[in-house]
Amino acid sequence: MQEFFSTIAAIATPPGVGGIGVIRISGPKAIETAQAVFAPVSKISLQKAAGYTAHYGRIFDDDGVFDDAVATVFRAPKSYTGEDVVELSCHGGLYLLNRALRAVFDAGAETATPGEFTRRAYLNGKMSLTAAESVMDLIGAKGKQAARVALAGRDGLLSKETQKTSDKLVDLAALLAAWNDYPDEDFEEIDPEKLALSLHEAEKECQKLLDTFSYGKILHEGVDTVIVGRPNVGKSTLMNLLSGAQKSIVTEIPGTTRDIVEESVLAGEVLLRLADTAGIHKTDDPVEKIGVDLAQKRLDSAQLVLAILDRSEEIREEDRQILPQLAERPAILILNKSDLPAKIAAEDLAAYAVPVVEISAKTGEGARQLIDQIAQTLHIADLDAGAPIVANERQRACLQKAQRALRETIDALRAGVTLDAVTVCLDEALSPLLELSGQRANEAVVDAVFANFCVGK
Ligand code: GDP
Repeated sequence: MQEFFSTIAAIATPPGVGGIGVIRISGPKAIETAQAVFAPVSKISLQKAAGYTAHYGRIFDDDGVFDDAVATVFRAPKSYTGEDVVELSCHGGLYLLNRALRAVFDAGAETATPGEFTRRAYLNGKMSLTAAESVMDLIGAKGKQAARVALAGRDGLLSKETQKTSDKLVDLAALLAAWNDYPDEDFEEIDPEKLALSLHEAEKECQKLLDTFSYGKILHEGVDTVIVGRPNVGKSTLMNLLSGAQKSIVTEIPGTTRDIVEESVLAGEVLLRLADTAGIHKTDDPVEKIGVDLAQKRLDSAQLVLAILDRSEEIREEDRQILPQLAERPAILILNKSDLPAKIAAEDLAAYAVPVVEISAKTGEGARQLIDQIAQTLHIADLDAGAPIVANERQRACLQKAQRALRETIDALRAGVTLDAVTVCLDEALSPLLELSGQRANEAVVDAVFANFCVGK
């Protein structure tokens, strides 16, 4: 276990008024510190308390008792951080919590820096680096799906998956190292082609994980979404429907949505970063033209395009400028105003090769179908929430580095370099993988040499 000499404390519950608020204290003096501000009604000292026990009592400071609370005691290493931990569950409310926290600080605890409890948990071997990262993701999860994925990461799925690959590489590296360092020992001959094949397998594993990065990004960061359609088809109304708030100005005068209004809304489980744009149509009005050009640019870069037609009117020339642009994009064609008599039928639009959803932005009819279609268009509808996902740039960079090094190792092998040189290449591939989960590279190789080969018996 990593030795920390400081005892840290912080309010662990979100700010604001709640039924209870929790102060978490962690470190070698956690129990002593809690004892200095908390008097159990049982009169039995917390210092004598076993782990996983809860104690009812009173919280006090120099001015006397000010709240009653429950102290939960965790004994190292069986706690979140791996250290002694006491959680004081006080009544919620900023005044009481801050007063209790101050008392804890007066008793000798230090302020915990952001993420410090989780950092200690990682350093104490309670979780892998990717699991620690997903704790942060979980806390900040924006949608249900994102939360599920973060939870999956929390269980160490990504580390487990990369561990399988790195275990294989460690074995290979150990074999090579043993072969190089102990030429007198009786090791099996190393077949470069077989070795290359194993490395190729590992490289494919990296690629498989890298492929999940776009999902990870969608779920964590949201999807750049653009709403297009000629004036008055209902773009602003749709945005309002999705966001449940009156953000854009809804008017009956065509051409009023000149600026791009940006907002994030949760469509089902996906966070959409919405831009309500001007319609894409020819215009002589210079101000409007800027809006139209901007809309085209947004359309070109968007990760999701929601194109809207007014179903209660015939298709117009302006609509026809948008329709052919949809086929090659992640787009959905929305036939809006389904509460009015139809002048356009979904079948008439088959030629444009884009999924069609009929809705009424005004009444909300069809909203569910739209949300389902969004999930399908983004290919996340059937995403297995239990599968590992590369969730951030750090993880991606590690995998890319490993993959690059693996390719180089394969090339080197095929070019016939010495096994000594291959060992070095292999280590280059291994260390980013071990870095991904927070293990150390060379140590792991050395450990495996002795564990697997009993050299020097
Ligand atoms: P935008 O110019 O594309 O942003 O269109 P707006 O959202 O401002 O809507 C234009 C007009 O159409 C407004 O009067 C809306 O109330 C109306 N509208 C929008 N959606 C619907 C709908 O689903 N049904 C009906 N009946 N009217 C709608």
